[in-house]
Amino acid sequence: MTHRRITILGATGSVGSSTLDLISGHEDRFSIDTLTAYRNVAELARLARRYRARHAVIGQASLKSELEAALAGSGISVAAGPEALCEAAMYPVDVVMAAIVGVAGLAPTLAAVRSQPVVALANKETLVCAGAFFMSEVARNGTLLVPVDSEHSALLQALGGPAFMLNPDFSTVEELVITGSGGPFRTMKAGDLQRVTPQQAVAHPVWSMGAKISVDSATLMNKTLEIIEAKHLFSIDEKCLNILIHPQSIVHGLVRFKDGSVVAQMAQPDMRVPISVALAWPDRIATPAAALDLAKLASLTFEAPDEDRFPALRLARELLSAPGGGAAIANAANEFAVDAFLNGRIAFTDIVRICEETLLKADGFSRPAPASLEEALSLDDEARGIASELANASRPEIHSLGRANTA
Ligand code: NDP
Repeated sequence: MTHRRITILGATGSVGSSTLDLISGHEDRFSIDTLTAYRNVAELARLARRYRARHAVIGQASLKSELEAALAGSGISVAAGPEALCEAAMYPVDVVMAAIVGVAGLAPTLAAVRSQPVVALANKETLVCAGAFFMSEVARNGTLLVPVDSEHSALLQALGGPAFMLNPDFSTVEELVITGSGGPFRTMKAGDLQRVTPQQAVAHPVWSMGAKISVDSATLMNKTLEIIEAKHLFSIDEKCLNILIHPQSIVHGLVRFKDGSVVAQMAQPDMRVPISVALAWPDRIATPAAALDLAKLASLTFEAPDEDRFPALRLARELLSAPGGGAAIANAANEFAVDAFLNGRIAFTDIVRICEETLLKADGFSRPAPASLEEALSLDDEARGIASELANASRPEIHSLGRANTA
């Protein structure tokens, strides 16, 4: 494997940190070109110095002078603001790791696929809110797009990895299954879900992740986003996509072939494994992940998803068969509602309710897929406006319940 220069969009986050941690064990193979963050100046400056980055870019324009001061004398160039993030995504490198959270990652990730040879995609919201358009840009530019989400990395590996990527052929495939741990409330009674606190929701039983995806994992909205992500990544009929609950999170994805064989990918629930697959593609490199000891684990269990307690799963099926505008609307409503929940403004069970009601109010299930960045961002804006009204109109007892729970 030749030496690779890497840009990390979202370097200060959970995926960004795991990427840097992996790279620190392979400094002969990888070096850092550019690191970006949104507002965490101190951590961005620390990482840029530690990994001898050439460029450090902060998303909030007003933080430029603070970053300049933090990097004074280092020789590292500094830029700031949303346009600077898109420019940073285009500085020529070998691989861009797209690890910004939410729709904020769409424009920089799009800039990366239009200008770079390889994009490692963690930012699933990009595919959820503009999947068809985004994938057409990937094809038009001949970019190699390698998924970082553990389930999609698993599916790609089970399908045949690099050989499949060179010649994608689904003629022998019956079903793609993504697994999910079920989150921290997998066994909680439906009536108790309303009372869960942000602290409980971000305490994932298996994975260590950023706050937004941790809440998505608790509502199971993460599986909704992931199944839409899979539809676009693999461009496969939605009827062939399914979700299976697997609390141990050892099996990440399964491919059922027409001959009855099922090929699954297993690994410890450690993001450094799928990150290594993407960064080293098509090679494999060592990771610090603990070895998988199946004898010690003794049993792996699987359950059908419970759509009654976790309505996000029902939404997944409805959104899969609708035109793509609905997914963009649901994604925006979810981002808004997760933020409102984390800030104590709404209850946990309001998150998916607000997504569903936003979809209904915006006529989401019949809205066409966005055909440009501008259309995707305009749908996003519209949905956030509706979600905000719905959050404000939540019953007062729900508001006070949410606030009480965060105390
Ligand atoms: P985090 O919240 O931990 O990190 C998000 C990163 O994005 C930070 O660097 C943050 O900067 C930056 N950021 C936040 N808002 C903006 C913005 N408006 N503009 C530019 N940059 C911004 O997220 P995760 O690492 O958990 O997740 C990143 C993505 O990867 C998500 O799409 C998630 O769904 C996906 N993913 C995550 C997994 C995980 O294990 N964490 C697993 C699979 C997929 P700052 O620190 O300055 O705020």
